[in-house]
Amino acid sequence: MNVYLDHSATTYVDEDVLEAMMPYFHDHFGNASSQHTLGQEAMNAVDRAREAVAKAINARPSEIYFTSGGTESDNWAIKGIAHAYASKGKHIITSAVEHHAVLHTCEQLTKEGYEVTYVPVHPSGEVDLDALKAAIRPDTVLITVMYANNEIGTIQPIEEIGRIAKEHKIFFHTDAVQAMGVCDIDVKAQNIDLLSMSAHKFYGPKGVGVLYIRNGVKPDKLIIGGAQERSMRGGTYNTPGIVGCAAALTKAVAHREENNAKIAALRDYFVEQVKARIPYIVINGGFEHRLPNNANISFLYVEGESILLSLDLEGIQASSGSACSSGSLDPSHVLLATGLPVENAHGSIRFSFGKDNTKEQVDYTLEVLERTIARLREWSPLYADLKKSKEN
Ligand SMILES: *Cc1c(COP(=O)(O)O)cnc(C)c1O
Repeated sequence: MNVYLDHSATTYVDEDVLEAMMPYFHDHFGNASSQHTLGQEAMNAVDRAREAVAKAINARPSEIYFTSGGTESDNWAIKGIAHAYASKGKHIITSAVEHHAVLHTCEQLTKEGYEVTYVPVHPSGEVDLDALKAAIRPDTVLITVMYANNEIGTIQPIEEIGRIAKEHKIFFHTDAVQAMGVCDIDVKAQNIDLLSMSAHKFYGPKGVGVLYIRNGVKPDKLIIGGAQERSMRGGTYNTPGIVGCAAALTKAVAHREENNAKIAALRDYFVEQVKARIPYIVINGGFEHRLPNNANISFLYVEGESILLSLDLEGIQASSGSACSSGSLDPSHVLLATGLPVENAHGSIRFSFGKDNTKEQVDYTLEVLERTIARLREWSPLYADLKKSKEN
């Protein structure tokens, strides 16, 4: 049996989305910036996509900018605001649990003389709002806090952060890559000035995303060239990608409630069964404000990488932390920020469920997992010590 439980790393392209994209690869291949009919057909498709994306977050079409994905959108939002409004101040507030696309961008800015405050999180993974308020300074120009975490699924108090930012006249950017199609997002009601999304996280194609920029907010350009995207982001339109991004988001939003309910039920069943069947585990992150698809579990006395390899051999794909930090043996900065000891962070696995997972797949995963953890623990000197200490 093959069981894909890594939907937070990426999703496949939904069949309806693929069908919507297909005409723009071959028959309607025109450059959307060309004046002739073929080009205008492509531009019409881009315009329709822009309207659909805007509608999904209660923005205006003129506030939607297509990019190459979440990483580009995060880079553009943060560097763009920092550079354009440097005269206002050079202090940025973010959280300790952001994606590397945000953290590394902030680090780069510190080399240019900016100062960054990393606000801590509660054990649940939620940003400490008192610490966030205390971090605000007269020269704070931007608050960037993710909508939902990619490792432990925590949904942040976005509306409150938006309110705080507005009160202090500070720009507010949110990396909503994990939240799109799952959370009910309204950029106006939530006072969001800039928002990043990525199509391949909601059953759209890879290499396309969006940055929403509120009208009147003017970040510097990141990618310069042609006059595309109102001269704010150069480069020939990725028409099939843009069409796919909009089709995927529209479908995800239309089926949001039913997908969320189904996925949360599977996830909850999985977590409950793991707790009942496998000793010495820790469930990471709070459950009050959490994405329905995320379970992050530390299996004590075993290495996460060994678990992943064993699961993969039996057809189950999961991940340790995020796909971007795997391959490095550093423990996850997100888990450490929640207060998890380093030893626990090492044996942590993220299971991220999707709309097509089934109960049979979950039962199979539980059976393999129970057997795998028991076997790996037999080889673990730490576990042997634990057993010995219990016998004495
Ligand atoms: C996947 C992800 C990104 C990066 O998006 P890409 O489109 O892959 O560049 C950024 N932020 C979060 C929270 C993510 O999960």
